Amino acid sequence: MPIVTLENVSKTYPPASRDAQPTIAVDDVSLQVEKGDVFGIIGYSGAGKSTLVRLINALEPATGGTITVDGTDITALSERDLRAVRGGIGMIFQQFNLFAAKSVRANIAYPLKLAGWSKPDIDARVTELLAFVGLSDKAKAFPEQLSGGQKQRVGIARALATRPAILLADEATSALDPQTTHEVLALLKRVNEEQGVTIVIITHEMDVIQTIATKVAVMDSGRVIEQGDVFEVFSDP
Ligand code: ADP
Ligand code: ADP
Repeated sequence: MPIVTLENVSKTYPPASRDAQPTIAVDDVSLQVEKGDVFGIIGYSGAGKSTLVRLINALEPATGGTITVDGTDITALSERDLRAVRGGIGMIFQQFNLFAAKSVRANIAYPLKLAGWSKPDIDARVTELLAFVGLSDKAKAFPEQLSGGQKQRVGIARALATRPAILLADEATSALDPQTTHEVLALLKRVNEEQGVTIVIITHEMDVIQTIATKVAVMDSGRVIEQGDVFEVFSDP
């Protein structure tokens, strides 16, 4: 069953000055992510990957086409309904985006607080998440006391806190060394297999796609130039 569908989606940014050209960041993209996929989107810097993520996460409106998330056409929603859609999507980032002044426990608790969970429910959920990502002994630490891989594990725990159906990973391993990258990818694989979370992973690193993704879309200059099963797209012709 499809969980994210893009049909002929485009995003054009207006020109920065009067004599500049508009930027077509995403150009007529159609793709379908099935429930349970680890779906990779790969392309060079400037290919339009981050813009695509912001469109799927409803952080920006598309200028054309239709985006359906979990059965809902998000291109026609009010801001209030969009917030509910965003609640069903967890995000992790290249620079982790943790709150430096909050402990690991408070970072993970943050989205649960926003969602209005009770204190006992938050405590139980955070304890469970800490165990899942292997950081139970770091609950009271602050982000600056953690390694890059540990920070990303906190990011993953925070992104999963409210049990989203989809996890969007935007260059989530690009700041990590190869060994740590593989540890984080192994954790994401468990998120997918054990928790049934659909993962969309944006990267410029082929190795990341080949390690974890089942499906891939290759982006270039705003367009998807190839897509399909990873082994088909990357097999020699
Ligand atoms: P990628 O994530 O693959 O590096 P982006 O989606 O960041 O690509 O960028 C695609 C294109 O859109 C680039 O030409 C970039 O300069 C442009 N772009 C991205 N965001 C904006 C914005 N907010 N305003 C104007 N142009 C943008
Ligand atoms: P505190 O509870 O310590 O006051 P805030 O709620 O003010 O923390 O958040 C700290 C910063 O993080 C703010 O700049 C805010 O814009 C930003 N922020 C809030 N929510 C999120 C989020 N879900 N993801 C990333 N950044 C966020």
